[in-house]
This record gives sequence, C-alpha cells and structure tokens, in this order.
Amino acid sequence: MKIRGLTRTFGGRRVVDDVSLSVMPGQVTCLLGPSGCGKSTTLRMIAGVENPEAGEVRVDGQVVCDRTVRVPPEARSIGLMFQDFALFPHLDVARNVGFGLSGSRAEVRARVAELLERVGMSDHIDAYPHELSGGEQQRVALARAIAPRPRVMLMDEPFSGLDDRLRDDIRDETLDVLKQEGTAVLLVTHEPAEAMRMADEIALMRDGRIVQHGAPYNVYNAPADLAAAAFFSDIN
Ligand code: ATP
Ligand code: MG
Repeated sequence: MKIRGLTRTFGGRRVVDDVSLSVMPGQVTCLLGPSGCGKSTTLRMIAGVENPEAGEVRVDGQVVCDRTVRVPPEARSIGLMFQDFALFPHLDVARNVGFGLSGSRAEVRARVAELLERVGMSDHIDAYPHELSGGEQQRVALARAIAPRPRVMLMDEPFSGLDDRLRDDIRDETLDVLKQEGTAVLLVTHEPAEAMRMADEIALMRDGRIVQHGAPYNVYNAPADLAAAAFFSDIN
C-alpha cells in the first residue's frame, strides 16, 4: 500500500498535510503521534470514507484514489478495525464473520470455520455478541475483518478497550494472523512502547505531517527533533 501527498483541510486548517507512506505486504507500520495530529483522518482517507483534497492511494500498485479515480471503500481491498469494533448484535458469531463474504454457502461456512479456529473462537460459533466477553468479541471482529482477505488492514487503536494482559495477547495474535496472510498493516497508536514492540516501521506524525519515518530502533535512537525525543522518553 502506498499513499502519496494526502492532504485534507477542515475549517481552514490542514489537519493532514502532504502525507506519504508505504507499507509492504506482511509488514506493520505504526502511525504514532499525539491526539489530534491527524492519524484517524489519514486512515479514513485511505479507506475511502473521507475524501482527500490532494494525493493518491495505491493498493498493490493499483490507484484506488487520486484526482480522478475514486474507488468506493468496499472495492479497495482494505479492511478496517477501529476502536468501536461493533459486531452486529442480532447476528450470531458465524453470521457476523461470514457477513459480506461471497461464494456458496459451503464455501462461506468453511472460511468462517477456518477463521474462528485461527482466532480460537470455534467453540463460540453459535453465540451472540452479548454472550461474549470484550476480548472474545474482539477476536470475532478480527475474524470478520480478515475474512475477505484484504490486502491492507487499517487499525485505529483497536485494542485500547482491553486490559493490559488481554490487549497484549490479542494484539500479538492479530498481527501474527495478518502477517501470515501477507496483509499490509497500518496501525495507529499513541503508545510509543506498543509501536516499538509491534512495528517494522514507525511513522511519527505531528500537526498533520510525518516528521520521521524509519525502523523503530532508528527512530528511537535518532529522533528527528526534540519533540520526537520527548515522545519516546516515557519508555524504559
Ligand atoms: P486521536 O489520537 O485523538 O484519535 P487523531 O490523530 O486521530 O487524534 P484526527 O481525528 O485525525 O486526530 O483529527 C485531526 C484534527 O482534525 C483534529 O483537530 C480534529 O478536531 C479535526 N477533525 C477531524 N475530523 C473533522 C471533521 N469532520 N470536521 C472538522 N474537524 C475535524
Ligand atoms: Mg484518532
């Protein structure tokens, strides 16, 4: 996935300003930065639920958004996991995960079973969301997000509602599954320690701009400026 020059203004302020990034298949890039710096807006433009004023988005080399092309969100091969990862409350686990999958009933059933196995939720295939814990719901949401085999997964602090231990487990499992599938992952977080642990690359964002981009070790050891250094100062 490659974005170039993405820009968006709200009320005269450039909240996303000429942002460029690429994420290779099977790699995780963490988009890191303080509240309000433009992370979610960037993800929304990549997903296609918000329109950029300028810039382009490519998935596997194909332009899905530029000045003239606007591929609708559902046709971009981009999956989303956001903080409020709501499952459909009236559908059981199997139908939540199978929602939006095409193919014969047998094919959909097989794919759903495979995914639930992968996220350790096979025993809950007939359960409804209200019968599951938060962590279990999140596993189902993960299975649903990866079901259509998106080439790109955009994650906007999807793990932040969980307690520490559970969050670490689910986050590691999630990223393992995505890496195995060769998905390019762009993960928003405002936790530097999380980014150091998970990322193949870190992109530091501030005031709508990418101020530094590189391997975690390099960003940590050679922060581009004082503010970047301060951002990592609470890791030990
Ligand atoms: P957080 O870490 O708090 O989620 P963020 O980096 O995701 O922050 P964004 O949600 O991208 O930040 O918002 C960036 C800026 O753009 C904020 O100042 C926000 O108020 C503003 N903004 C976002 N969406 C809109 C909108 N639809 N209309 C007006 N302003 C908006
Ligand atoms: Mg946000």
